[in-house]
Amino acid sequence: MRNLTILGATGSIGTSTLAVVEKNIDAYRVFGLAADTNVDKMLSLSLKWKPRFVAMNNEAAAKTLHLALKAEGSKTQVLAGIEGLSVLASHPDVDCVMAAIVGAAGLLPTMAAVKAGKRVLLANKEALVMSGAFFMNAVHEHGAELIPVDSEHNAIFQCLPPCVQSSLGRCSLEEQGVSSILLTGSGGPFRFTELSALYNVTPSEAISHPNWSMGPKISLDSATMMNKGLEYIEAKWLFNAAPSELDVIIHPQSIVHSMVQYRDGSLLAQMGRPDMCTPIAHALAYPKRIDAGIKPLNFSEISELTFMKPDFKRYPCLKLAIDACAAGQAATTILNAANEVAADAFLTGRIGFMQIAQITESVLQEASFGALTCIEGALEFDFKARILANNWVVRLAP
Ligand code: NAD
Ligand code: MG
Repeated sequence: MRNLTILGATGSIGTSTLAVVEKNIDAYRVFGLAADTNVDKMLSLSLKWKPRFVAMNNEAAAKTLHLALKAEGSKTQVLAGIEGLSVLASHPDVDCVMAAIVGAAGLLPTMAAVKAGKRVLLANKEALVMSGAFFMNAVHEHGAELIPVDSEHNAIFQCLPPCVQSSLGRCSLEEQGVSSILLTGSGGPFRFTELSALYNVTPSEAISHPNWSMGPKISLDSATMMNKGLEYIEAKWLFNAAPSELDVIIHPQSIVHSMVQYRDGSLLAQMGRPDMCTPIAHALAYPKRIDAGIKPLNFSEISELTFMKPDFKRYPCLKLAIDACAAGQAATTILNAANEVAADAFLTGRIGFMQIAQITESVLQEASFGALTCIEGALEFDFKARILANNWVVRLAP
């Protein structure tokens, strides 16, 4: 029995993680569940899974949940705030932590799990985008075991040799015979839309992903392909990849989840249905394999697998992210913060779809905060970049 904490338990990845646990109830015990504000969902999860602890980032939500659980006679203890989340992530009885909080908010609780030397199943890509070098150093310093959950990175991990898997971020890909990593992306809902029509798309159109069912922020990031940009940065840190070793390719069917090209001409791909239960099950059980509740792929049902080069005119956010990756951690932190603010402004109807890239680019040009030297610095840069991005939202709002 392994004890599991899920950070971001009420979200899309949290829900899929619990679905995998339900299929493997003899192997995993839900020890801790954490979320932001959704008391109703957390109440029903707590009553069903009977975790030792739950934590709500929002203090008022934690109080309401505490009273509701007490009324039900539940023994689950309720913690609050970032400290509460960190307790769940680092408790000595915890074996595995699913890091599935969305956005920069996931950085500190995920780091708490890393510093406690846990097996960390990393869905929260923004943590690596903000603090790649510091994060990977902490993984090695504290003996944490990092397994990527993001479907592309989990696919790449599966296609790499064991010595890379056991030394993420450190191994030389070249010495392992790898010539490049090919990150695939669906291209989102607007991959075939007229470029001129992109100015008028609505939030509900933008979050209707053609293949994957995900939370709103990552769904929107898939439409702008900022998601692939963040994943490019994530791949750099996880696999110690140079720009010449990383490429992005659009694959509209989302069956090939990513690929690794070797020097001898072999190309290894991981394929499957577009369902996060597969990488979650892989990350939970690695190096074993468990039931993820997923039907096998049926090739006679798949009419074609196609691939195409991304067009930066359609996806300016992808180009901004690739450039920020080359510029360094300060730029990727600023990019991430500006994108989070602009994405929220679009989803709440304050700016247009194409202004997400415009605001992110403007903030990147405007921000000159110096070099990043520590995690606290990343949080400070994140804070300052959000102020600049919010100013742009006010300036551009109709
Ligand atoms: P979601 O919006 O569905 O859920 C987010 C979760 O984070 C919720 O439980 C919410 O309560 C929690 N949360 C938000 N802010 C918080 C805070 N300040 N403190 C504590 N908890 C907080 O998001 P999601 O789609 O599940 O994505 C989660 C993460 O996983 C993101 O980083 C995303 O990029 C990554 N990811 C998601 C998918 C997917 O299929 N959904 C795939 C790959 C990677
Ligand atoms: Mg992904």
